[in-house]
Amino acid sequence: MSDDLLFESALSLRERVVSKQISASELTGLFLDRIAKTDATYRAFLLVDRDSALAQARAIDGAIVRGDDVGPLAGVPVAIKDQIVTRGLRTTCASRMLEGFVPPYDATVVDRLRRAGAIIIGKTNQDEFAMGSSTENSAYGPTRNPWDPNRVPGGSSGGSAVAVALRQVPLALGTDTGGSIRQPASLCGVVGLKPTYGRVSRFGAVAFASSLDQIGPFANTVPDTAAIMNVIAGHDPNDSTCVPAAVPDYLSGLDGGIAGIKVGVPREYFVPGMTAGVESAIQAGIDRLRAAGAELVEISLPHTDYCVATYYIIATAEASSNLARYDGVRYGYRAKEPKDLYDMYSRSRDEGFGSEVKRRIMLGTYVLSSGYYDAYYRKAQQVRTLIRQDFDAAFQKVDVIACPVSPVTAFKLGEMVEDPLQMYLMDILTISCNLAGLPGISVPCGFSDNLPVGLQLLAKPLGETVLLRTARAHEMAYPDSARRAG
Ligand code: GLN
Repeated sequence: MSDDLLFESALSLRERVVSKQISASELTGLFLDRIAKTDATYRAFLLVDRDSALAQARAIDGAIVRGDDVGPLAGVPVAIKDQIVTRGLRTTCASRMLEGFVPPYDATVVDRLRRAGAIIIGKTNQDEFAMGSSTENSAYGPTRNPWDPNRVPGGSSGGSAVAVALRQVPLALGTDTGGSIRQPASLCGVVGLKPTYGRVSRFGAVAFASSLDQIGPFANTVPDTAAIMNVIAGHDPNDSTCVPAAVPDYLSGLDGGIAGIKVGVPREYFVPGMTAGVESAIQAGIDRLRAAGAELVEISLPHTDYCVATYYIIATAEASSNLARYDGVRYGYRAKEPKDLYDMYSRSRDEGFGSEVKRRIMLGTYVLSSGYYDAYYRKAQQVRTLIRQDFDAAFQKVDVIACPVSPVTAFKLGEMVEDPLQMYLMDILTISCNLAGLPGISVPCGFSDNLPVGLQLLAKPLGETVLLRTARAHEMAYPDSARRAG
């Protein structure tokens, strides 16, 4: 069986499976072999569920032989970030706190993928509880960049980005609270979409910052991204933040082009510290949109400077509340032989959480504490409204915003872990999208010193259709889209 199949799109592999050119079992075996060959170096996976993946594939093959209806992702292997619960499959959020935790249910997105015929192949590495931008905050060791194993893949969904870039799987899911899908997609050279807040159910995504968290896909092409969105998007009675709006078919009209679409370029997003290589790759990406018929408009998002501070108050405040549930009592890690109840609480949390998670809990507890609440938390909520209004005003004038994802390409492992503030500043271009609840996508747009650069596109809430169409127009005009990592 040819390894070239690994490089085909999920949509084309699904076609091959339903037309019986290849069985789902053979295809799953190919991807499992690819994981076995590459993952000792890159460590994208925390868990590979070989036996169950093959059993799922055999069930799809049986359904095809019987002539049953099989779903839109029949036979396509998908990897799931370890932040998302999977029934019977260990889910740790890359934390010691949840070391042996086996969830009793599937997240809604996982359930929908299974019903669509996808093969759930395993769980991917990440920063602990999704806190980080490099996947170095995993309690189980870092994941490595597919273009240079001495570099980070970005984070926090680094494992999912790497798995897709290395063709260990055609599709993966991540979560994005402040850039955790788009930034690793950019640093690994794949497509990553953060949907509109509420577009995809978060039932079963372990909560980090509930007013910001979203689940979204990684893929190698924009049509594959649209195809998995067709499966995972839509209302879910189990998630009260999930919007009831009908889901359009994201594949239809995808190739319709962008003639006449207005694309805003925010001048504040070309920040000091951005490398020349990133800037020229982004410029080339924007030029492709213009060549495809878009009208470029210079816009301003005046509160951009306040995004990092606002995010790190709101996200840590919500995290301190969400992570209070890990107390050693009901589930998760419990300290051995505690002296008393207080000792059990404090040592369980001290031994179970890593240092970045503790830093966030302390920051969040501080900004919520009486006497500081008004100065920090309430103020941050007010600034968040101003940031959202910047986008409301911009989207009066334009359909899509184009800007960089990250000011730099993949940095070296260890280069930034000791400097949390520097790491937080890396998020400057991705967090506004979460603060405003917008959909955002990263698409490969070039290379700088042989490391990939991603172009970020943003649209108004529920604007995934125009977002994906613009991303597709760029992809069709980008000559390097087939360059292979690993
Ligand atoms: N890097 C950001 C943080 O550390 C975003 C993480 C995320 O999106 N989960 O909080």
